[in-house]
Amino acid sequence: MSDHYVKVKVQLEQMKSFGEDAEKQGVDAEEQVPVSSPSAPDSPDPSSITIPATDASSTSKHKGKSRSKPGKDDKNSSGKQISDLSSHGSVVSAHAEKNLNKLGYERTLQVKGTGKILQGKLETNGNYVNIHASKNIQETRREDGFKLARKRRPVTVDTSKAKTSLEALKLSIKQLKWKEFPLGRRAACDIYWHGVSFHDNENIVSGQVNKFPGMIEMLRKINMSRAVRTMQELFPEEYDFYPRSWILPEEYQQFSTQIRMVKENDATVNPTFIVKPDGGSQGDGIYLIRDPSDLKLMAGSQAKQSVVQEYIQKPLLIDKLKFDIRLYVLIKSLEPLEIYIAKEGLTRFCTEPYQEPSQKNLSHVFMHLTNYSLNVHSGNFVHSDSQSTGSKRTLSSVLYRLAAKGVDIKRVWSDIIALVIKTAIAVVPELKVFYQADIPPGKPGPTCFQILGFDILLMKNLKPVLLEVNSNPSMRIEHEQEVAPGVFEYVPSPVDEEVKVGVIRDTLRLMDPGHKKPIISHTRAGGFEHGEEIPMEAESQERSPDEIGSLPSLCLKQVYPKYTKQFNYLRLVERIAALFIRFLGVKGNMRLGPTAFRTFIRTCKLSNSNFTMASVDILYIDITRRWSGAMPDSREAGMGLQAFVEAFFYLAGRRFKSLALREQVVSLLELCEAQLGPQSGVEDRRSLSCSRALPRAIKAQTLCLTNPQLSSPAPLRRAASQDYRLHQRLKPRTLRANVEN
Ligand code: ADP
Repeated sequence: MSDHYVKVKVQLEQMKSFGEDAEKQGVDAEEQVPVSSPSAPDSPDPSSITIPATDASSTSKHKGKSRSKPGKDDKNSSGKQISDLSSHGSVVSAHAEKNLNKLGYERTLQVKGTGKILQGKLETNGNYVNIHASKNIQETRREDGFKLARKRRPVTVDTSKAKTSLEALKLSIKQLKWKEFPLGRRAACDIYWHGVSFHDNENIVSGQVNKFPGMIEMLRKINMSRAVRTMQELFPEEYDFYPRSWILPEEYQQFSTQIRMVKENDATVNPTFIVKPDGGSQGDGIYLIRDPSDLKLMAGSQAKQSVVQEYIQKPLLIDKLKFDIRLYVLIKSLEPLEIYIAKEGLTRFCTEPYQEPSQKNLSHVFMHLTNYSLNVHSGNFVHSDSQSTGSKRTLSSVLYRLAAKGVDIKRVWSDIIALVIKTAIAVVPELKVFYQADIPPGKPGPTCFQILGFDILLMKNLKPVLLEVNSNPSMRIEHEQEVAPGVFEYVPSPVDEEVKVGVIRDTLRLMDPGHKKPIISHTRAGGFEHGEEIPMEAESQERSPDEIGSLPSLCLKQVYPKYTKQFNYLRLVERIAALFIRFLGVKGNMRLGPTAFRTFIRTCKLSNSNFTMASVDILYIDITRRWSGAMPDSREAGMGLQAFVEAFFYLAGRRFKSLALREQVVSLLELCEAQLGPQSGVEDRRSLSCSRALPRAIKAQTLCLTNPQLSSPAPLRRAASQDYRLHQRLKPRTLRANVEN
């Protein structure tokens, strides 16, 4: 990881100096006017009007119980504090950020001696489009743009299914001066805001929905653990931010054997584990154990699906209390992948001073679990209107406090950004499978975006750990309070309002259909190659000042494709998913049938005399059967993506025995993609290739965060990347002989 930070820093420095150079050349990027896209050179689109990105410090803050006035800047001390923090908090320093904003998304360079302005627009697909235009034409276009913008109808939002996010959504729409349809609308709306799932409103054929199909399923604890574990197998070091986890009851044996071995090897090791029911939320059903024998396993159909996870014993404490971070992340699009992180988040505090787990305190939920829904019932819970005290605080107030103690906040932010991008990369492949099933290409349908709630714990050594990702983070801006003995009422929560209204409003701004989508010349799900320049910002997302009044600058910061260069090499499973989707065949399917699997093998020329089609069938049956057992509630028969990935790893291991798992997978991907050719619909091989990003052989690493002895022994890991992986763990011996032929 340290290499990564150095790289990020160097790039930022380079870009910063580029900004300074540009300034020296007399370029004032804030003065520049927009250029229309090359596809429509003569019709200026008001959406391309660039409102100069202002410094983060202009973010409006308000305090107290009163509702915020749209666009009103409150320059009180708390606002100052937060602005300071957001500049701390950003990976980009305030100074660099300013320069980068000046550089902006569009660049203007004076061509010496010609008097002409050479203007370029950096598309989010990485293309830098040069456009020559005289200053007068630009000015005319700007005026035309403003006129058009004034005439444009307001964006329409269907809020009929918004449920608990309604209050914050209403405020956001009001601030934007958009039009709300609280009871829905016969005609299509631009945006549909759902409280729970993509399917809250059926039959949407256009516009944008704030949920992705499959997100709920994908982020359930077991699925999420599986997705991250697959990435841990490929990239153990990069994915060491997720505690070691086992899926129950399926992996009970592995869990208890591993823990017994660890304890036998070193009697001083005394790990603790946290057990979380699969569908649970708000701390429901969670408990801590110190030994596998303490698991409350029930037999047969009673057996509860859950995840047991290494418990982080040394969290960072503030005021002797454990706390976690709720970070809001916007997945703006899957294809191309676009991720934004809210600069402001929440921190939720425990209400009983923390002690390392012991047999005595294991059941003290107010000490170990940071869930608001639990702690709010503790007598010690402090409701506070201040953002920096109480049991729920803004993230910036906590970071500010840490910074005052000398903590390197930029580093913490940088680690958090990396964690978010890597987690998204882990879940995106399966999301794409869900997406194509619900909205097959060619069929009319909406596009999707979604706000996710990342729960992150900081360890004592400041390393962020991912606890879980919520597909439906609470967007409530009021909280339940006991106003009289035994009488509970919902009262406004200024801290929640401060953070959540900003997140919803700015998500809407980013999704404003009046703005041109970045032009993607061809599908490049993998983004940019190493060595290509990272675009610093997406296109200007602001409407004209006439329309929006004085809204604060966006509280959402683009991190992908911004940091594509650093993370693109991790997107291997997405390439496997692209193959999978290609062979799914019938639209709407999510699972491969045996014939489709055979077709995949044949088309990619993976069978030979040593691996006959009969072996292929056995492999299919074996893996599919095992996975259908692991996912008892799965409705469709056949091979799902996770099973296909397992099969792919197996095939890669067979074919490229001498390599480490990661290289095996890359090699097989390249082989398959080469067979399918450029027309395949599989992402651009060149841009997706990760071979240059694999400088090191996989070391014998630990997956474990706090207790290296808990991780798989190195020989086991090596074995896991070979044929052994499939057969030793999953198959009866007789079958193995058949498959290996
Ligand atoms: P839920 O969806 O029920 O809230 P979480 O995974 O968020 O489940 O866990 C609930 C709480 O338990 C977290 O907010 C955190 O305080 C604590 N917790 C969860 N996992 C761990 C862990 N691995 N180590 C330490 N504390 C944890």
